[in-house]
Amino acid sequence: MIPPGHKIGILGGGQLGTFFTLAAKRQGYFVTVWDPDPEAPAHAWADIRITKAFDDPEARSLFVSHCEAATYEWENLPVETVAELESEMPVHPGSRVLSLFQNRIAEKNFLTEHRFPVTPYLHVHQIQELERAIQKLGLPVVCKTATTGYDGHGQWRIERLKDMASLGPLLHDCASGWIVEKWVPFASELSVVAVRNEVGNVVVYPVVENRHEGAILRQCRVPAEMEAGLADKVSSLAEAVLTALKGVGVFCIEFFLLKDGTLLINEIAPRPHNSGHYSMDACSVSQFEHQLRALCGLPLLPPHLFSPAVMINILGAEIQALATGKSLNTLLEIEGCRVYHYRKNRIKRRRKMGHITLMSANRDQLLAKADLVRSILDRAGRREA
Ligand code: AMP
Repeated sequence: MIPPGHKIGILGGGQLGTFFTLAAKRQGYFVTVWDPDPEAPAHAWADIRITKAFDDPEARSLFVSHCEAATYEWENLPVETVAELESEMPVHPGSRVLSLFQNRIAEKNFLTEHRFPVTPYLHVHQIQELERAIQKLGLPVVCKTATTGYDGHGQWRIERLKDMASLGPLLHDCASGWIVEKWVPFASELSVVAVRNEVGNVVVYPVVENRHEGAILRQCRVPAEMEAGLADKVSSLAEAVLTALKGVGVFCIEFFLLKDGTLLINEIAPRPHNSGHYSMDACSVSQFEHQLRALCGLPLLPPHLFSPAVMINILGAEIQALATGKSLNTLLEIEGCRVYHYRKNRIKRRRKMGHITLMSANRDQLLAKADLVRSILDRAGRREA
């Protein structure tokens, strides 16, 4: 066990790194944030900041000298760095788990080998094999780079064979190839955050219903509206995945729910996830506190949901809604509305700049508040577009 007062570190200093750092500091830990971007938001809250590249040996020695355990906020880190750190201190989730989730094909193969349900898929090593894969799976399909994709980057939906011609130039080199998946006509998208500790205990958060726009998560509703039996099935699947994986830390498992009730696992993130942000306000223990607990060998707690909640991501120029008095006042006057501004210096189109969590025991009121928030964000986004 690593108790408060000790030194821990995180690789990656975006909003997830920020929330981890704040959760750890609140409990008396000293936190080192390592992110090559000096403007990464978590640096502002760190005890020690490291801004050198993730493969810089000096930076690694500095990190090792300041940390007794480490975690990370995103999966596209050099796995070698995590493996090297692992020889010096506990790193959770470890490099074996990280490398699995850096590659969509390795991830899907792992799930298939353990008989978890996934969308039909094929590995395409060379672009010439794409047409054959499409013919086998049947249109429409989605073609995704095996590595480094996020928020819809590196993925293309193909509806007709002739779409391939225009896609050609986009499908640039990807040494590890592509995964081609059957496009599934899901009824809804669901996710759950689940946490596993070193002795194999698992706790699972409530099931969330997610709405994406342009492949970016836009809105989450918790608890997802569904029969209790189905929610139990989602939770059991999440628990079984973590047990099969033997990973330690916080994970988010995303699902497609088909009209006939079939559940398919879409993807897994080996870290807290924005669909779990509601837990900071609406749960007895947040996903970030659990990331700390799993890392430091502290007890895990079955998370209790205090109130139904909706989380809305603030994208790009919509963050301007927090800069003008009228919009900000309207937002802050909504009861049960919590506003998060990530303090990112550069506004980029569709970039996650903040989020808003709404809570209300009354579902109709909750959804009406969500509509109001969306209209304020839309207006701010259009003003700056
Ligand atoms: P991903 O990065 O794989 O999570 O994809 C981002 C979003 O694209 C998902 O949340 C879905 O909305 C959509 N998507 C990805 N793969 C599929 C699929 N095989 N069938 C239908 N929708 C998909």
